[in-house]
Amino acid sequence: ERIEDKLYQNRYLVDPGRPHIKVRPHQSPSPNLLALTRVCPANCYELNESGQVEITPDGCMECGTCRVLCEASGYIEWNYPRGGFGILFKFG
Ligand code: SF4
Repeated sequence: ERIEDKLYQNRYLVDPGRPHIKVRPHQSPSPNLLALTRVCPANCYELNESGQVEITPDGCMECGTCRVLCEASGYIEWNYPRGGFGILFKFG
């Protein structure tokens, strides 16, 4: 079985109104923040019309990439989803 098939079996449960990752308001994104629009494997980050980075954390795999790149500097706020929400990994 291909990894894509396995990933497809994962389910994501949205916690309405309680995103587990937030982008701090900014005028223009720092290079690290901008990089998230390319490196997030779930494509959660995108550039809006005003040139700011926005996140829609639905589908986040909790890989930690954005956390490593941007949490310490305060560009984003990163938390695990509440219990029972977020990515539900299924293996095998
Ligand atoms: Fe994307 Fe990974 Fe950050 Fe989730 S933890 S938003 S999958 S980079």
